[in-house]
Amino acid sequence: MNNNYPKGLTTKDLESYKQSRTASLDAGNNSSRLNILESQFDQLSLINEALWEIMKKDKGWTDKDLLKKVQEVVNLRVVRAQSKLSCNKCGMSNPSIKSSCIYCGNTLVKNTQNSPFS
Ligand SMILES: [Zn+2]
Repeated sequence: MNNNYPKGLTTKDLESYKQSRTASLDAGNNSSRLNILESQFDQLSLINEALWEIMKKDKGWTDKDLLKKVQEVVNLRVVRAQSKLSCNKCGMSNPSIKSSCIYCGNTLVKNTQNSPFS
């Protein structure tokens, strides 16, 4: 057997070794993905702040206006999360946050006319 596994391992040891290597690789991948996400988040946060500064300067909006709008969006999201979708296949009502019917598995068609963020 030509592989990179330590010599003298039993089948059970080999399986444990493979599982620990897989877990280690997964942790490494998750760490890399987390670093990428943090970098993207920082970039979006920077762009968001710069855009807000432009809006304040050019449009005269205030932080109070922003907080009011954030609260409105929070309320809209609560309404969207509580809304229901009917399945085209079985007709059952599903939470709109689901992508497939919880009763039959059919893909749910979302109405994005009200908001592209739903
Ligand atoms: Zn269904």
